[in-house]
Amino acid sequence: MNNFNEYLADLKKLLSYKSVFDKPQENAPFGKPIKDCLNFFLSRAKEMGFETINYDNYAGEVVFGKGEEVGIIGHLDVVPIGIGWDTDPFTLTEKDGIYYGRGLADDKTPLLSCLYALKELKDSGVAVNKKFRLVVGCDEESGWRDIDYLAKKTTLPEYGFSPDGNFPLTYAEKGIVEVSFSFPKLKLFTDIKGGTVVNAVCDYATARPLDGGIDKEKMAKFNLSLENGLIVSKGKSAHGSTPHLGKNALLPLFEYFLSMGEDVQSVLDYLFYDKAKLCNLKTEQGLLTFSPDLINQDENTITITCDCRIPAPMTLEEIMPIFSSFGLAVKTKVRHQPMMVEKDGWFVQTLLNAYNSVMNENAVPLSMGGSTFARAFKKGCSFGPSWITFDNHLHDANENLPKEHLLKGYEIYKKAIFDLAK
Ligand SMILES: [Zn+2]
Repeated sequence: MNNFNEYLADLKKLLSYKSVFDKPQENAPFGKPIKDCLNFFLSRAKEMGFETINYDNYAGEVVFGKGEEVGIIGHLDVVPIGIGWDTDPFTLTEKDGIYYGRGLADDKTPLLSCLYALKELKDSGVAVNKKFRLVVGCDEESGWRDIDYLAKKTTLPEYGFSPDGNFPLTYAEKGIVEVSFSFPKLKLFTDIKGGTVVNAVCDYATARPLDGGIDKEKMAKFNLSLENGLIVSKGKSAHGSTPHLGKNALLPLFEYFLSMGEDVQSVLDYLFYDKAKLCNLKTEQGLLTFSPDLINQDENTITITCDCRIPAPMTLEEIMPIFSSFGLAVKTKVRHQPMMVEKDGWFVQTLLNAYNSVMNENAVPLSMGGSTFARAFKKGCSFGPSWITFDNHLHDANENLPKEHLLKGYEIYKKAIFDLAK
């Protein structure tokens, strides 16, 4: 990088803003630190000679070039620091060739790198046949309200990348749907509770036995215990996108209910034993996943909410008839539609080639079950800044980025941006 000292000074300043979501204030929908951080970023872009837009401090944009639009989106908000840091999280610190600070890899450095790469492109004088729109998000970590606001104010480019994932790049992300199934309350058990969030495998569930609800022998068979008058089932948590890595605490509980004569056969068959063979559904992106992760009960009804991840290009509409065939009341809430960019198309290939030529590798595009800011675009790829083989401690204490990764990442973004400009 030509002007690394200037870059580092900007990074240091960006990092110094405690840009964690804070209570909204006038003209600061996500709190003052995020607003100040955004305004610093946009003022630097302006000083570099770019046109900038501030969407009422919900998000910002740096615009450069003319022609077909290409988007880039990152974010300046960060997750809370938590505990266990060895350095001050808001002071850029270098130790043995590794930089430390909250928001370093997620997502301030890659966003700054894209700005500097655009500046190099501008200064190079080469012909630019695209209109770059570098979108600066401010609410990626707590609700994407910046994206909702942008949707009201502008139309984002069809193609874009988000430097907020892994290298080489992710070209497909599964659709994420919450599916809730309801059925009548049971005869021998009540107050059924389990799970904390829908995107994590249920690792703890309880039920209150009514008269005749306790059979110690059967409970032992299903590894259930009795604690403070409650039947307790313990499992092992895992991310909702990888339920096979966990152990669902609801399964033995429902097997026990069935053994006690409750009418839960279809709940077990369809939600736990996958009688409809949902998890055999497959596209080139991989298998559909389905995990019943949350349960609660009101006066008359029990509801189990499941995390369902649909591989692109399959859609929820294709799956709905299967859910409806379970004989249980069903409701769905779409978190994210499945997304896939043409693997052999110009966009994926330009990004992939930038990565491979800088790294001298022959890497292939990745796909994922999670969700990144790339979904802000209709055809979006997440593209760096992390390497899967290295732990940047994202969302954790001692978030870091090795200097070597920062510099390599910069070269990759620069090559991608120069090639996209053609
Ligand atoms: Zn991020």
